[in-house]
Amino acid sequence: MPDTKLSEFELIRRHFTRPVAHTDLSVGDDAALMTPRPGMQLVVSTDMLVAGTHFFADTAPGDLGWKAAAVNISDMAAMGAEPRWMFLALSLPAVDEAWVAAFAEGFAACCARFGADWAGGDTTRGPLNLCPTIIGEVSAGAAIRRDGARAGDDIWVSGSPGLAALGLRHLRDGLPLADGAKETCLRSLHRPQPRVELGLALRGVATAMQDVSDGLLGDLTHILERSRLAALVEETALPWAPVLAACSDEAVARAALTAGGDDYELVFTAAPAQRESIDAISRQLDLPLTRIGQCQSGEGLRLLARDGMLQPVGRAGYDHFS
Ligand code: ADP
Ligand code: MG
Repeated sequence: MPDTKLSEFELIRRHFTRPVAHTDLSVGDDAALMTPRPGMQLVVSTDMLVAGTHFFADTAPGDLGWKAAAVNISDMAAMGAEPRWMFLALSLPAVDEAWVAAFAEGFAACCARFGADWAGGDTTRGPLNLCPTIIGEVSAGAAIRRDGARAGDDIWVSGSPGLAALGLRHLRDGLPLADGAKETCLRSLHRPQPRVELGLALRGVATAMQDVSDGLLGDLTHILERSRLAALVEETALPWAPVLAACSDEAVARAALTAGGDDYELVFTAAPAQRESIDAISRQLDLPLTRIGQCQSGEGLRLLARDGMLQPVGRAGYDHFS
């Protein structure tokens, strides 16, 4: 691969400098200047992606750029916050400029789709490593945290968790997928859609929320631990149809559904009195929202399996997708 011999300065100028909508001073100075809107609280998160650990080094650069932004924006969705400013610290090996250009396009496209200005960062030579930081805003006190669930609350999940995990197994192990579903699974893996609009719609409705990055049941245990609750999830209530349509092997579909990561759906709790509002949000956003269980007092997550047996779910999730 040809080294670009481009200076970092030139890379930043050509590829990392983008129009901004609500940033007072963006790329080009020592630091960025932003003005939070009155009455808003800042919401800040950073999530690093390391080649070989979080993605294959040969992932298409546009997909990688999108995903690096998306996993960070998903943390804003999970708080019920609006993404506003994105920063990107990255180390890059000597890759060709076409790679950097495509990566930057994917990253910028995801920021633009969800309303975040790409306002700065840092660029060095080194092993491929991406470290975005996202800053969002939420009306003071309105963020949806992990610790607000109450006994008796319903547990819900958005979308079709498991498709990204099936896409990953397809790429890694050659898992066969149904014809029409293959594209959907790979898209879920490479171009995850953070549920920002859903997070915003759930302010004042959900009592606790988080995004599903490591697997539905394992991530749900974080809400239960922070809220000091137990829960019962019904296996038959899970959104099975999409994973079964993609992969008819029920054991594989089930592992993807309960323990597959990378879809960046939202899992949340809400009082039963909110069921109608949540169904209305689902219709309005054209996004399935599925009620999968209920919070109880006590501790620990149990799965009511198809055969009527109760199975405890460990902290690491029901069944590691390995
Ligand atoms: P300094 O010498 O002050 O550290 P840099 O040369 O690191 O400045 O960065 C110069 C400008 O370019 C800064 O405004 C910085 O935010 C921006 N920048 C550097 N890398 C990136 C990047 N990966 N994405 C966006 N902006 C970047
Ligand atoms: Mg710097």
